[in-house]
Amino acid sequence: TPDNSVRFRGCLDDVAAYTPGRPPAASDGKPSYKLSSNENPYPPLPGVLAAATDAAQHMNRYPDMGAVDLLETLSERFKVPVEDFALATGSVALLYHLLQAVVTHGDEVVYAWRSFEAYPIAVQLTGATSVQVPLTDDARLDFKAMEAAITDRTKVVIVCTPNNPTGLVVHRDELLAFVEAVPSNVLIVLDEAYREFVRDPEVVDGVDVYRDHPNVVVLRTFSKAYGLAGFRIGYAIGHESVVTAIRKCALPFGVSSIAQAAALASLQAEDELLARVEELVVERTRVVEALRAAGWRVPETQTNFVWMDLGEETLDFTAAVQAEGVSIRPFPGEGVRVSIGEREANDLFLGVACNWKK
Ligand code: PMP
Repeated sequence: TPDNSVRFRGCLDDVAAYTPGRPPAASDGKPSYKLSSNENPYPPLPGVLAAATDAAQHMNRYPDMGAVDLLETLSERFKVPVEDFALATGSVALLYHLLQAVVTHGDEVVYAWRSFEAYPIAVQLTGATSVQVPLTDDARLDFKAMEAAITDRTKVVIVCTPNNPTGLVVHRDELLAFVEAVPSNVLIVLDEAYREFVRDPEVVDGVDVYRDHPNVVVLRTFSKAYGLAGFRIGYAIGHESVVTAIRKCALPFGVSSIAQAAALASLQAEDELLARVEELVVERTRVVEALRAAGWRVPETQTNFVWMDLGEETLDFTAAVQAEGVSIRPFPGEGVRVSIGEREANDLFLGVACNWKK
């Protein structure tokens, strides 16, 4: 029968499907909120919506595969040559394409753990091996141990800063020292999905690191600060040979015309969007301070989410927040990651957290 004749690649056997944050459960007339996927709570700006709607008028045509308008605008924005950009359907797709271009069975990819859940899946899909380096006791990236984990088989190192789900950043000196210590034939991926939420002045901009290091590639996204998660668009900045390899692995016409138009309009309305980010940062401070005042030890997040170390209480806590109509992201046995969302949603979450018997 067809079912029995289909043979999947061996490396798929233990690949767990990526489980995204769940949409809020329907609740009896009460509003419900989603704080489980680090999305931007603001609705689209009218100008961005208009640009996307306008692009939709031409849906019978393939998108501009060269994404000329968007890439020229990004190039001006970052003072980076157009040739050093690649686009894909979200920064997670860029990571998939990049790994596909660089690693295969027998190769190793080093990254800290816990970090973004997509990393082990993306690595497994290539048939390569993940080398997960535990975070330090205070939940930071352990660069000494990451350096020691690099072998002749290491092809890629992923550094997520700020890190998902802890929200902690890497500082300039430690990042530069690490980058210098990594052999130049190992590609360093700086995943900066939350870069626009960083306010810590000790953090170096990954784009400046890429300028001086041919083996560094930076991943950014329009999903978080720019509020385009539903359109799926992200960009990589890396030296030409690296991004050319990514482009070769990308799906033909992968980034839709609508996503390109919305991203372009977002860059044109960047001041307004970054003002919203600033409001989210202010709200983040309010949430963190309320949690600390209630006795929680919360890491110094530089993202649009907070991490709470709940250990064995993780699922009970998640259920209690869910009962208020708010979905959050549990990591069973470890803790929860809670996005900074609408003020009402944050208050419902804080209502549970601040009255939780510890
Ligand atoms: N990197 C990190 C660290 C993330 O948390 C996320 C989103 N959850 C992504 C990348 C992927 O973002 P996108 O594919 O939407 O650009």
